[in-house]
Amino acid sequence: MTDPVVHHVTHPLVQHKLTLARQVGRSTSNFRRLLHEISVLMAYEVTRDMPTQLIEIQTPLATMHSPVIDGKKTVFVVVMRAGHGFLDGMLDVVPGARVGHIGLYRDPRTLVAVEYYFKMPHAMHERDAIVLDPMLATGNSAVAAVERLKETRPRSIRFVCLLAAPEGLRHFHDHHPDVPVYTASIDRELNEHGYIVPGLGDAGDRIFGTK
Ligand code: URA
Repeated sequence: MTDPVVHHVTHPLVQHKLTLARQVGRSTSNFRRLLHEISVLMAYEVTRDMPTQLIEIQTPLATMHSPVIDGKKTVFVVVMRAGHGFLDGMLDVVPGARVGHIGLYRDPRTLVAVEYYFKMPHAMHERDAIVLDPMLATGNSAVAAVERLKETRPRSIRFVCLLAAPEGLRHFHDHHPDVPVYTASIDRELNEHGYIVPGLGDAGDRIFGTK
């Protein structure tokens, strides 16, 4: 079996925007915009080995064979609700992609993920799934989301987050060693409430202005 893969996206633009997004006091619209910009940049990383096929095209000067992707073979799987903060940026880059949703909430007492919604496109076996959830904290909801997603047998699965806690990453890869994780940062630790430290607070609240 191959070792679990973690892609740490260290691109300076991603790191710069992440620093701004972490700062307390940033407005909701500013935070949302930063997340959008980061997700566009992360989309480049996560689609790096996407399959292409050659098609014949006509330029003003000649015909040639040139590569294209089949965008609709990609499914962005939004883990609600914070995953929405990553969706529009990803769709900017792959507009033909399909979108699936997984609704999970964390039981505040046990921190265990409970499913309340699940909807995927048909024929998942022909599609590559890219799971979007900005915060890989305890890893409980990421593990549950990917477990549920695997029941639909997608062609491949990748997991994209903004921040990961070391404990969450370990927990995730204990259950899903076959799923590569793309993250902009591996932070120091989780606190006793399951929040990532130093982190950026509650991503959902900061995206939607609910606190
Ligand atoms: N979810 C968040 O939004 N933030 C954290 O730090 C952990 C989980």
